[in-house]
Amino acid sequence: MALMLNGMGVSRGISIGNVFILHRNQHEFTEQKIDKKNLGKEVKRYKTAHSNARKQLLKIRKEIPKESPDDVSSFIETHLLMLDDAMMATSPIEIIKENQCNAEWALKLQRDAIVKVFDSMDDPYIATRQDDVKHVFNHIMDALVSNGKSRTVSKTDQWRDRIVIADDLTPADTMVMQHSGVAGFVTEMGGPLSHTAILARSLDLPAVVGLHEARKYLKAGEQLVIDGKSGLVLAEPGETLIEHFHKRQRALRRKTKELGKLNDAKSRAKSGEKIELLANIEVEEDIKHLRRVNAAGVGLYRTEFLYLQGNKVPDEEEHYKTYIKVIRALKGAPLTIRTVDLGADKEIDQIKSGPLAHNPAMGLRGIRLCLNDPSIFVPQLRAILRASAKGPIKILFPMLTTVSELIQAKQLLETTKESMRARGYKFDEKIPLGGMIEVPSAAISASHFAEHLDFLSIGTNDLIQYTLAIDRIDDQVNYLYDPLNPAVLSLIKSVIDAGIKQKIPVTMCGEMAGNPSYTRLLLGLGLREFSMPPNSILEIKNVLRQTRVSNVRRKALSFLHCTDKEKQAILLEKINA
Ligand code: PEP
Ligand code: MG
Repeated sequence: MALMLNGMGVSRGISIGNVFILHRNQHEFTEQKIDKKNLGKEVKRYKTAHSNARKQLLKIRKEIPKESPDDVSSFIETHLLMLDDAMMATSPIEIIKENQCNAEWALKLQRDAIVKVFDSMDDPYIATRQDDVKHVFNHIMDALVSNGKSRTVSKTDQWRDRIVIADDLTPADTMVMQHSGVAGFVTEMGGPLSHTAILARSLDLPAVVGLHEARKYLKAGEQLVIDGKSGLVLAEPGETLIEHFHKRQRALRRKTKELGKLNDAKSRAKSGEKIELLANIEVEEDIKHLRRVNAAGVGLYRTEFLYLQGNKVPDEEEHYKTYIKVIRALKGAPLTIRTVDLGADKEIDQIKSGPLAHNPAMGLRGIRLCLNDPSIFVPQLRAILRASAKGPIKILFPMLTTVSELIQAKQLLETTKESMRARGYKFDEKIPLGGMIEVPSAAISASHFAEHLDFLSIGTNDLIQYTLAIDRIDDQVNYLYDPLNPAVLSLIKSVIDAGIKQKIPVTMCGEMAGNPSYTRLLLGLGLREFSMPPNSILEIKNVLRQTRVSNVRRKALSFLHCTDKEKQAILLEKINA
């Protein structure tokens, strides 16, 4: 019988596939060869993990309430005995040395061998004890993995055409899975503005998030349909429903084809205003999507993904080579490179929020991180400058909070330019400089920032998060996320006005810019440059080509005073009518 669940649809499209349940404690294992000289270190890693697993079991044993049945503590005792047995304490070490491999792989080989022995036993009771063995192996593996190693999934064929059900996925996981042909995903946590959701949208990967206990209700291997727009998740739907969803998939494809006719149409409002439609990209492959829809250029290149893909800080050469590929693929269209905005939900092992960062979104991220450690920042600036000799590039600083941060960043850029000039490098001496306006302090003081910049870019994802004090990746407070909140709209309006006054362009590159429900409202507030995932561009073009800007100006201003949700919905209906 079909089972219907509902989460939050964050990346439209319908996916039909079989379920792959991702349990983080079902670790994936890959073999890595270890140099002879590093074998000692690997053995030490194993011993530390083994001892940490032991400490953890002892801690669990200590915390067992006194009134618990004896079975509970004897269960832990058994696990401790297994842990101390040579099969787990020493055999994996022998394997590390013999096979010259990583500790995880050695542990997997040992686990497989032991499980095989249990499998071959006729006694059903003994055979079931293999679950205990697996749990104890997992304890050690947990300790190994958390010992400074990444928990990112790895690229394998197991994701192909599957719909992955996980507690949560990082942006890096999402990217790896997409490259491995995953059909879609459902997560128990997360919200529509997490970078995982944004990435799913730009990768065209149907996704549903915030479906609590999804892994409890869905079974590995069963057929699943997900609707990334409505958030519907349907297990074992049966033939009739499958046919219905196939029809909807075909209808979506037809709609995309229809919108495709607008590819070469001018990006102008019906009343004649020229509107710039730019694309947000995360990885260089996104350029092909941008070309498909004839975007005017890149309004936001989130360079963090260069770091996330390799799980390390790229050097100047890696940055440079990637930017050159992107600028060549753009064939003269402008490229706005945002300097790295690591932190919060975009972390790599080398750069993690410290133990005191209870709230990483407000911690050392974006420009703060870069100013704090110029060894991360300067190689990227150098690479951007070098690439600027090959095509039109703009620099965009993320997460500016104070004007003095901006001045510091500009000084660092100037020093970098000076040292490059001295070494004879060519670069665009007048490379335009923009600032992300995504923190309320920057939005309120937008005119001061504008005095020092060539353009402003409104990051509504963070601006809404910080204005309304809601963590954008926390599904428990997602209901408060509201782009129509008059406080948010007033800030957006004042940033647009600051740009007009200073005679510099203002772009919006947050998700709000790619939502057709808000296009007329934003046009009415004075916005003329929109940057969004490439697959939203034609839909936005379609709306603006049917809009007379003078007709929506007054209507847009009335949103600034509307605090009532129902009235907002009516206003939205009216402006979009
Ligand atoms: C934003 O905050 O709106 C934005 C575009 O940046 P990001 O989503 O990468 O934080
Ligand atoms: Mg942001």
